[in-house]
Amino acid sequence: KGERLRLPPWLKTEIPMGKNYNKLKSTLRSLNLHTVCEEARCPNIGECWGGGEYATATATIMLMGDTCTRGCRFCSVKTAKSPPPLDPNEPYNTAKAIAEWGLDYVVLTSVDRDDMPDGGAEHFAKTVLHLKERNSGILVECLTPDFRGDLKAVEKVALSGLDVYAHNVETVPELQRTCVTMKLFSKKVRDPRANFEQSLCVLKHAKKVQPDVISKTSIMLGLGETDEQIHSTMKLLREADVDCLTLGQYMQPTKRHLKVEEYVTPEKFKYWEKVGNELGFHYTASGPLVRSSYKAGEFFLKNLIE
Ligand code: SF4
Ligand code: SF4
Repeated sequence: KGERLRLPPWLKTEIPMGKNYNKLKSTLRSLNLHTVCEEARCPNIGECWGGGEYATATATIMLMGDTCTRGCRFCSVKTAKSPPPLDPNEPYNTAKAIAEWGLDYVVLTSVDRDDMPDGGAEHFAKTVLHLKERNSGILVECLTPDFRGDLKAVEKVALSGLDVYAHNVETVPELQRTCVTMKLFSKKVRDPRANFEQSLCVLKHAKKVQPDVISKTSIMLGLGETDEQIHSTMKLLREADVDCLTLGQYMQPTKRHLKVEEYVTPEKFKYWEKVGNELGFHYTASGPLVRSSYKAGEFFLKNLIE
C-alpha cells in the first residue's frame, strides 16, 4: 500500500525531433507566447512542433493566465478562488504572435475561470476571430473548459470560426462525481464542479449549433478504470456524435496528486485504437504518450481531409 509503480520502459524512450522543431523553438522567445508544450514539459514536443509526414506543426497555447479556479486531482496547475483579471489585449496579441510564429495547427486552451460570468468564452472567441483574420489557412482547435454547463458560452466558442471543438471528459464516468455508480469508488479524479454528463452536453451542444465543427475529447488511462468502463465510455461518446478521441497514460505530476494505478501497455493502447475505429470515430489516437493535442494537425490532415 502506498507504493508507487515503477516507470515502464516504454515511457522512458527518446522522442525524435521533427524538421521544424528548431525553427519554431528559436522564434518563440521573442513572441511572448505561453505554450503548454514547454510549460508542461510535454514529451511530444519534438513530434508536434516538428511536424511529420504532412509537415504540420502543432502547438498548444494557454490563454487566461496560469491560475485555475478548480483543483482536479490529476492536474498540477495553480489554483485560486479569484485569479488575476484577464488581459483584454490577450486575444489580439496572442493571435498576432501565433500568426507570426508559423504554425499550421494551433490548440487554444485555458484554465477554468469560474470567477467570470461567461467562463472566458468571449476571450476564446475573440482570439479565434483575430487569428483567422490574420491567417485564414491556420487550423484552430479550442480545448475549452465545461463553462459550468453554460450552453451560451459553448455556443460563443463553437460559432467563432474554429475548426475543432475539443473538451476533455478526462476519465470514465465512474471516477467522476454525480455518477450513480460512483459510490463504489473512493476517488474522484476531477474537481467536484465537473462531471461526465455535463462534459458530454458541452460536446453535443457544440456540434448541434455548428454541425461542420469537428468534436474531440480525451481520456486518461491508468487511474483504476476497468476495461468495461472504458468500452462503455467510448460508446457513450460515439452516441453523442463525438468525432475524435485520444487516449493516453495518466502520469502523476507530484506526490500530492493521484497515484498511477496501472501503466497500460502499448499493446493495450493499440487495442483501444482498434475499438475506437470499430465504433466509428473519425480518428482514435491511442498510446502511452498521447495527449489530447498530440500531433493534432497531422491527424486532422491525414484522417479528415484525405
Ligand atoms: Fe487543471 Fe483544467 Fe482541472 Fe483546472 S480545470 S485543475 S486546469 S484540469
Ligand atoms: Fe504541445 Fe499538446 Fe503536442 Fe504536447 S501533445 S507538444 S502539449 S501540442
